[in-house]
Amino acid sequence: MRGKALRPALVLFDIDGTLLCRAGPHHRQALVEAVRAITGLETTTDGIPLQGMLDPDIFRAMLTRAGSSQRKIEGWMPLLVKRAQWLYSRMCPEDLRDRVCPGVVNLLQTLKQRQAGRALVTGNLSRIAWKKMERAHLRRYFQFGSFAEYGKTRGELVRKAIAQAKRLGLYRNHGLVTLIGDHANDVQAARENQIRVVAVATGVMPLDELARLRPDLALADLTALDVDFLFH
Ligand SMILES: [Mg+2]
Repeated sequence: MRGKALRPALVLFDIDGTLLCRAGPHHRQALVEAVRAITGLETTTDGIPLQGMLDPDIFRAMLTRAGSSQRKIEGWMPLLVKRAQWLYSRMCPEDLRDRVCPGVVNLLQTLKQRQAGRALVTGNLSRIAWKKMERAHLRRYFQFGSFAEYGKTRGELVRKAIAQAKRLGLYRNHGLVTLIGDHANDVQAARENQIRVVAVATGVMPLDELARLRPDLALADLTALDVDFLFH
C-alpha cells in the first residue's frame, strides 16, 4: 500500500455490535411497549434474531407471531414507528459511553482529522439511532445517517447513504466507500452496492464465521484496524 496516493474516503457505520456493544434492553423494550400501546397486544422479541434486522421488520415478526394480518400490521406501522422512537428517547440510559466498542473513538477521531465522510447505516429508526449516538457521545462524528425508515433492506439503506453523500459533497469520484459492520447482513448489503466491507466481531457473530463470509477485512475489534486501509 505504501507509496500509493490517498483517496477520498466515505465510511459507513452500523451501530449495534459495531459502534456500541450491548447497549442494553431499552431498545427492545421500546418496541414491545410500542406494540402494546398501539395494538393492545402482548408480544415479545424472544427468539427473533434482532441483530442485523431493521426495526420495522422486528415489529412485523413480533406481530405476525401474535397472529396479526399483514394488512393490519402495515396499517399500524406508522404509529408503531412513531411511538417506539418516543418511548426509546425516554427509556434510553443517560450515559452509553461505557458501551462504546474498543477502537471506535480513536477511529472516528482519525477519520474526522483526515476529513473522511462519516455516516450511520443502521436498522435502527432514526431517532433511536441519534439518541444512542448522543448518549454515547459519538453524535458529533457523524455527518448524516441512513436509517430503518429509509428503505426495506440494509442494501437499500447503503444505496441511499451513498446518494446522500454525493448530494452533500462528501463523496467524490474514485472515492472509496467502506461499510463497517458486525453481521452477515452488513456484508451482504455492502456486496449489493459493490463497496468494501470491514466485519468486526464485537457483535453476535464470532470472528471465524465472519471471516467465512469473505469480507475485505475481518477483525476481532476496531483496535485492529489499520486506518490507511480505508484510504487505499
Ligand atoms: Mg449490527
